Amino acid sequence: MALFDKFGKLAQERAALVQAGLNPFGTRIDEVFSPTEGRIGEWRVVLAGTNNYLGLTFDPECIEAARQALEHEGTGTTGSRMASGSYGSHVALEAELADFFGRRSAIVFSTGYLANLGVISTLAGPGDIVLLDADCHASIYDACKLGGAQVIRFRHNDVADLERRMLRLGEPARNALILVEGIYSMLGDQAPLKEIVEVKRRLGGYLLVDEAHSVGVLGAHGRGLAEELGVESDVDIVLGTFSKSLGAIGGFAVSHHPEMELLRYASRPYIFTASSSPSSIASVRAALRTMRARPELRERLWSNARRLYQGLAGLGYRVGPQPSPVVPVLLGSSEEGVAFWQRLVEHGVYVNLVPPLAAPGGQALVRCSVSAAHTPEQIDHIIQAFASLRASFDGVIAKA
Ligand code: PMP
Repeated sequence: MALFDKFGKLAQERAALVQAGLNPFGTRIDEVFSPTEGRIGEWRVVLAGTNNYLGLTFDPECIEAARQALEHEGTGTTGSRMASGSYGSHVALEAELADFFGRRSAIVFSTGYLANLGVISTLAGPGDIVLLDADCHASIYDACKLGGAQVIRFRHNDVADLERRMLRLGEPARNALILVEGIYSMLGDQAPLKEIVEVKRRLGGYLLVDEAHSVGVLGAHGRGLAEELGVESDVDIVLGTFSKSLGAIGGFAVSHHPEMELLRYASRPYIFTASSSPSSIASVRAALRTMRARPELRERLWSNARRLYQGLAGLGYRVGPQPSPVVPVLLGSSEEGVAFWQRLVEHGVYVNLVPPLAAPGGQALVRCSVSAAHTPEQIDHIIQAFASLRASFDGVIAKA
C-alpha cells in the first residue's frame, strides 16, 4: 500500500460529511465575543464546548498581564527551556505552582500533552511497569508508548481490577507507576482516588494524577480531586494544564520527590521544543492569582454544571455518571451524531462532537463543558436547544 493510501477511508468519510454540508471536526469559530459567546458561520452561538471552566480567557487582569509581557518580552521565546527559552517568568510561575500545590518542585512544559509525555516517558522506561486506567487521555497513552514501559490497563474506575492486577504482579507492583485522572475528560466522572490510595498504601507503587480538568474545579482551594478527597500527600505527581481553568496554553507537573528536578535534563519533550510564550505565562500567573482569590468562581461553575446536568437528564438524555462541568450526552449512532451536533449549532449552541475513536467504548457523544462565566439564562438556552431536538432525534439518543 502506498504511503498515503491509508487515508482512503478517512477521505471518503470526510467527503460524505462535507457534501452533506457538515464538517464538525474542522469547525471554525469565526468570532469570539466573550468566554461564552461566539459566531460560527452565520450562527451566533453560546460556547459550551470549551474547557474555559472559570471563564478567565477574557479576565481583564490576565489580558493586561499578557499585554505587558508582550510589550516587554516579545511574542515568543524562540527557544526551548533548556536552550534560550527559560525566562524569569517561567521560573517564577514554577515557584508559584509549587507554592500553590504545597510541593517541593514544579516544572512548566509547553502544553499539557507534553507534560504527560515528558514526565511519564522519562520516568517509566523499558523494564518499568505502568498501570493505566483504560479511559486515560491520549497523551497518557502516547507517553507510555514513548517511554517503552510495560503497560497494564485496568478497567475504568475499577479499583478491584487494579488491585487484582497489582497482586498478580507481586513484588514488582511496588515500583509500578499508577496513572489516573482527577476528572475524566470524556465522561466527566471522577477517579475513586481514596480507594486507589488505599490500594497503593497496601501494595506500593507510585501515583500520578492528571488533574487537567479538575484544577480550579475541585478542592477547597482548586487544587483538584486529591485536595477534594484529602489524599494529596499520597499522590506522587500531579499533572496539569494551563489550557482549561487557567485559560491559556502550557502544562505542568508538581511533586515532592527531589529527583523530579533532574527530569529537566532527561525529558525529551521538555528539552526539544520551544517554551510557552511570555504572554501565555504571564496570563497564567494572573489566572492562578485570580483562581486563588476568587473561590466564588468555582461555586458559580458548579451551580451551572448542576443546572445543565439536571436539565439534560430531565429531558431523558443519557448524560455522564455524575454531575460535572464536563457533561457528555451519549448518542446511539455516530453518523446521526454529526447531524445532531449541526442542529445544535443552528439552535445557537456549540458543543464538542466526540468521534468514536476518542470516546470510551467507541461510543458517539457530544460533550458540553460548562463555565463559571455562563449565565443561568445561557445554561437554560443550551437546555432549550437540546429540548427542541429531543423528539426528532429520538432514535439516536442512547437510552438511560
Ligand atoms: N490531560 C487530559 C486529561 C486532557 O484532557 C488534556 C487535554 N484535553 C491534556 C492532558 C492535554 O492538555 P493540553 O491541552 O494542555 O495539551
